[in-house]
Amino acid sequence: MSRNSALNCADRTELKQTLEATCFDLAVIGGGITGAGIARDAALRGLKVALLEAQDFASGTSSRSSKMIHGGLRYLVQGDIPVVKESASERAILHSIAPHLATKSPYILTTRSRVESMFLRIALKVYEFLGKVGKEDKHQVWSVAKLKAQEPSLATEGAHNAIVYPEFLTDDARLTLATIRSAKAEGAVVGNYLAVTEVSRDGDFSLTAESRLPEDDTKATIKAKLVINAAGPWVDQLCQLENPAQAPRLALSRGIHVVVAAHRLKVNNTVVMSTRDKRKIFAVPAGDYTYLGTTDEFYPDSDYWPDVYAKDIDYLFNTTNRYFPNTHLSAEDVVSVWSGVRPLVGSTEGKANEISRKDEVWEGPMGMLSIAGGKLSAYRAMAERIVDRAIDILNIEAKPCTTATLPLPGGESILYADLTKLDEITLTRWRRMYGSEINEVYTMGTGLEAEVRYAVLVEGALRLEDYWARRSSRAWFDDRGGIDSLEPASRVMAELLNWSDDRRKHEVTHCLEIDKASRQHIH
Ligand SMILES: Cc1cc2nc3c(=O)[nH]c(=O)nc-3n(C[C@H](O)[C@H](O)[C@H](O)COP(=O)(O)OP(=O)(O)OC[C@H]3O[C@@H](n4cnc5c(N)ncnc54)[C@H](O)[C@@H]3O)c2cc1C
Repeated sequence: MSRNSALNCADRTELKQTLEATCFDLAVIGGGITGAGIARDAALRGLKVALLEAQDFASGTSSRSSKMIHGGLRYLVQGDIPVVKESASERAILHSIAPHLATKSPYILTTRSRVESMFLRIALKVYEFLGKVGKEDKHQVWSVAKLKAQEPSLATEGAHNAIVYPEFLTDDARLTLATIRSAKAEGAVVGNYLAVTEVSRDGDFSLTAESRLPEDDTKATIKAKLVINAAGPWVDQLCQLENPAQAPRLALSRGIHVVVAAHRLKVNNTVVMSTRDKRKIFAVPAGDYTYLGTTDEFYPDSDYWPDVYAKDIDYLFNTTNRYFPNTHLSAEDVVSVWSGVRPLVGSTEGKANEISRKDEVWEGPMGMLSIAGGKLSAYRAMAERIVDRAIDILNIEAKPCTTATLPLPGGESILYADLTKLDEITLTRWRRMYGSEINEVYTMGTGLEAEVRYAVLVEGALRLEDYWARRSSRAWFDDRGGIDSLEPASRVMAELLNWSDDRRKHEVTHCLEIDKASRQHIH
């Protein structure tokens, strides 16, 4: 799969020519998980597809989630049955098409009384029924003694028991990337750092896309019979290109995560904690790190790097320190933070966490379809529905949807080559990152250089930030936010992408500025 799915967006002249050479059946705006899923599904059904992403793939919300492929027990409490049902069954599908991107992690909920335990178990039984959860994944009840043994740092005073149920953890950016690569393998033409700036229609749609890459002034005109706007938090802006008078439909909500070293807060499972304002937050194990998240507050802007404030960190640390009383987390423990904006459909009256996570699709005056409001967990099903609708509108013969069974790149079962030159840490890391493609990465080396080469040659990385934040997650899960990797990684990228030394330094500075800005309000 990987040879055909290699993303080679560096040759901008060729990209422009390919984009302008044909009238596509479908142009998808936005290379987050929503656009990625749509492009993959449509390409697999035989449609001629173009996908245009303004920055790097997954540079919006799809690299800032809690990285959970979950059925969303909390949506059951809110009565959002369709969301629960779909997300719960989609978990199993994702695990089968990309096992390396869906790692099972038990979630632990401590209960304080027999009644609480009973209610929770009833809810979980409904959840398991709705999601057609198999026997092996049904919830368990742990005694306090077992809870203590499994999570020695967790406070157990006053606990009645613990309810434990499995969900999945993913790498959101790499899931998006794998989905886009699969679309590419099926013939989709894919361009990153190409922002759509104009939308018009005269029979077919015509889109103007302009480069957002330093030192590149590519401008392309893309023709398509149908356009789907999957621009996440920027969906309203795209709608306004179609109709400047269009009132906003999104209510944006910001959520942050904070990463600490596992030696400061060690969890073996995902621990669910209740905040004073009755929300659930999570402590999630991530190798040498533990991450905590998240918050949910309305936010006015669709920023790529929304601010993180001291009060956000306090909010997460206060609850965590209650659950893990010997930990005493403070600002000095912050390894890194990330923050993202949920593209919810609704109004900013009421509370952000009460807005439904069900996706909505609407048609604009020119006929552009826009989609927003859904979850990463259900991206595949969401894509299937909107591609069905697109095929109806286009009135064309198309193949049936196969996204639930065809593996994503890295999801095939293979025999691993002799990987003895890899140390244990790299082997674990690479298995998670590359799945069955690990053999291919191994041919490029055994460390950071191989990761960077693979990121550029196969995974479409065009800026240092693309490698640091989204291909490798070093920005979040590495000592000091991965800033020590910037110099060596930039040198490999400079060689592969013909950067001058000034450009290389600019790329390093750009990442350092992102890192610094993310910490500016944390004291
Ligand atoms: C804090 C937080 C935690 C979350 N946790 C979870 C979770 O654990 N599990 C879960 O299932 N969901 C979770 N979600 C929700 C999930 O992350 C989002 O639903 C999903 O990532 C949205 O993807 P998207 O593709 O619609 O948007 P994005 O990922 O934002 O993609 C939109 C893309 O459009 C591009 N774009 C914008 N303008 C243009 C233009 N003019 N031309 C071309 N491209 C353009 C952007 O650059 C961007 O890459 C979470 C969200 C947040 C904020």
